[in-house]
Amino acid sequence: MATAKKIGVLALQGDFDAHRKRLEELGAEVVLVKKPEQLEAIDGLVIPGGESSAFLKLLGEPGLEKLKRFSHRKPTFGTCAGAILLAQEIENPTQAGLGALDIRIRRNAYGRQVDSSIRQGNFGAAPMEMVFIRAPKIERVGPEVEVLATAGSDPVAVRQGRVMAATFHPELSPDQRVHQAFLDLVEAGEREARA
Ligand code: GLN
Repeated sequence: MATAKKIGVLALQGDFDAHRKRLEELGAEVVLVKKPEQLEAIDGLVIPGGESSAFLKLLGEPGLEKLKRFSHRKPTFGTCAGAILLAQEIENPTQAGLGALDIRIRRNAYGRQVDSSIRQGNFGAAPMEMVFIRAPKIERVGPEVEVLATAGSDPVAVRQGRVMAATFHPELSPDQRVHQAFLDLVEAGEREARA
């Protein structure tokens, strides 16, 4: 039997526990990552929602550097604030990030009136209910980036190589498809590494 993949969930701040539960439901072994050294022992990482500027403060420069190295090498999935951290260009305001995804993302892009909403979108061709909380908007998608999900005309989940991001919160809906897609990426990464 294949051994369960070890998936880290960055647990500095934000809704990391909902990700832990979802990943465990899907059979992954989950490690809550509180120190950069723990990155060495995991096969993939989820960066949860929260407040991206608070993540930057808590990580500090050395933590951000270690996370950058990880996200450029191994499967990483960011939701909401996590998606912001992964982006190459961040607006409103401009801030540091991991530069792992060739996208431009705008923080708090849907305004105060509609800062949280449940929208019907599409994951691939199939409908999906999506929870948005003070969501960012992906404003530019680079040529190597695949759009995995849309809501209206907005891309809301994307993938470039082994890096995935969603501007919504799949961990807050009962639907398991987005996390399963990430676990499939982790599996694929392992196969490539062995080839
Ligand atoms: N508005 C937050 C930010 O800019 C993200 C919100 C979330 O993760 N739910 O970082």
